[in-house]
Amino acid sequence: MIDQIKIVLVNTSHTGNIGSAARAMKTMGLSELVLVDPVSEPDSHASALAAGATDILGNAKIVPTLEEAIADCGLSIATSARSRTLEWPMLNPRECGAKVVEEGHKHKVALVFGRESSGLTNEELQMCQFHVHIPANPEYSSLNLAMAVQTLSYEVRMQFLEQQQAQYTPVELDYPNGEQLEGFYQHLEQALLHTGFIIKQHPGQVMSKLRRLFNRTRPESHELNILRGILTSITKLDKKD
Ligand code: SAH
Repeated sequence: MIDQIKIVLVNTSHTGNIGSAARAMKTMGLSELVLVDPVSEPDSHASALAAGATDILGNAKIVPTLEEAIADCGLSIATSARSRTLEWPMLNPRECGAKVVEEGHKHKVALVFGRESSGLTNEELQMCQFHVHIPANPEYSSLNLAMAVQTLSYEVRMQFLEQQQAQYTPVELDYPNGEQLEGFYQHLEQALLHTGFIIKQHPGQVMSKLRRLFNRTRPESHELNILRGILTSITKLDKKD
């Protein structure tokens, strides 16, 4: 699923931002970077800011238009730092993460980021099915490009991890029923009487306290079987003596 997601940067001016975006992607497990008509192609400045993510830079595809970048995508989501005149289906970053992960199972998905100076054009915005806005400070809502990539990639990762968690079905625990528990307590009491740990005439509260102990730890069926096996081995030892 995560391999189906591409980050598309449109007409980026600063190669440093491309490098930082690559780094942001790699930390969140994303790897496909597409550059639409970058002002300059990735250089040493980009590599320096990419740090350990130069593989993503090296594999970045460069295409002339957004149309080409998203041609193979079943879903494209455009980012926007400000509200635009034409209303468009909007997602918040969390909804965006969920949608990307959900649809990433079916087809390729693009997250499209705009120019540092002017964002995406209306034409580019309208090539995408949804828009996403990071609800930043309304008086200062424009994040650095790579930081916007980081924020939205993080939301994708959180959804991805949540989904993985949901797919993990814990092994059903099998607990003994009341009859099996009573059988165990009787077995335990017999064994303790047998070894002389409990004296029949003065049993005290040992059994009640042991019941409370086992009640607290709540042994599973297979653990109770081990305990019963231990009790049986004690009785056998006695017989050998
Ligand atoms: N001055 C530009 C801001 C561009 S910021 C404008 O007015 O549109 C560069 C890019 O970073 C944006 O195109 C978008 O892709 C992303 N970005 C920055 N802030 C964002 C925000 N609050 N929500 C979503 N994307 C954002």
